[in-house]
Amino acid sequence: MENKINAYNNVLELIGNTPLVKLNKIASGLTGNFYAKVEAFNPGHSSKDRIAAYIIEEAERKGILTKDSTIIETTSGNTGFSIAMVSIIKGYECILAVSSKSSKDKIDMLRSMGAKVYVCPAHVSADDPRSYYEVAKRLHNEVKGSIYINQYFNELNAEAHYRSTGPEIWNQTNGNITHLVACSGTGGTISGTARFLKEKNPNIKIIGVDAFGSVLKKYHETREFDSNEIYPYRIEGLGKNLIPSSTNFDVIDEFIKVTDEESAHTAREISRTEGMFVGYTSGAVMQAVKQLDENGEFGKDSNVVVIFPDHGSRYMSKIYSDQWMEDQGFFDTKHESEPQEIQY
Ligand code: PMP
Repeated sequence: MENKINAYNNVLELIGNTPLVKLNKIASGLTGNFYAKVEAFNPGHSSKDRIAAYIIEEAERKGILTKDSTIIETTSGNTGFSIAMVSIIKGYECILAVSSKSSKDKIDMLRSMGAKVYVCPAHVSADDPRSYYEVAKRLHNEVKGSIYINQYFNELNAEAHYRSTGPEIWNQTNGNITHLVACSGTGGTISGTARFLKEKNPNIKIIGVDAFGSVLKKYHETREFDSNEIYPYRIEGLGKNLIPSSTNFDVIDEFIKVTDEESAHTAREISRTEGMFVGYTSGAVMQAVKQLDENGEFGKDSNVVVIFPDHGSRYMSKIYSDQWMEDQGFFDTKHESEPQEIQY
């Protein structure tokens, strides 16, 4: 008798085909139907698994990578984790150049996933030879047979989503999606997904979420880079201080900005009300939906898909730490009651 085992051959086979989950309580006061594409169900717990696997496999198809090749990127975030994961399974070396601002937890996590992490000074300019951009470029030139993922300037980033996230959403909604609301960092997710959806139905409205302190919204409206828009903010992975070539501004209908504070509270609210422990930018995208609803964007038959990019476990020392929230001045009577103390 054949001994049939139902198993995946490795974790990479679990990338993509993430579930679409109806939002209930958090959307209860809003007009329309709301669904979240929950990217934390990827094996590396974020949407970046899709681009890591796709970009590396494209390089394999083109014959650029050989056994023992090296994959290089400049990130301590989700993309770094995903590249490390793909590299382990495929047997490549993974080098990540990160800023000294990155938390120790993140650096330890990447090292635990087998990545060689170069910690570069945060206070130097991007063109300084010590910056993480320059270190990555130098290593790419020095290490024979290496590839530099360069997610902000790599057209394969959006293509990964054009080929996976877009078709998945179209099929999961049976073509009945009316709006897509998604965060924009590299812009890969929104650009690739939107291009696919607009090819199917040009009337689908595509709304990008940007941060106060980022240039994307203004650039979309004026096609001009305005450095006056730039100031520090706390949400990671959303918005940018430069114009990424991986963003296709033509397929995005409008951008909406959200604050650090409201996004943090909304992420916590999603966890509390929907039982989904989501990351900071999932809070940002839902905050944007609330603002759009207030502006009368949706009708009762709207089918709005939002993308929740990653998992809350990466933000334990940030939005899920009461102390951190307090340190940012994010606790006030408007949002939250006093924490409960147990009396002994
Ligand atoms: N959310 C998080 C947590 C991210 O790390 C990123 C990627 N920078 C995004 C949203 C935005 O995705 P994209 O880069 O595809 O625009």
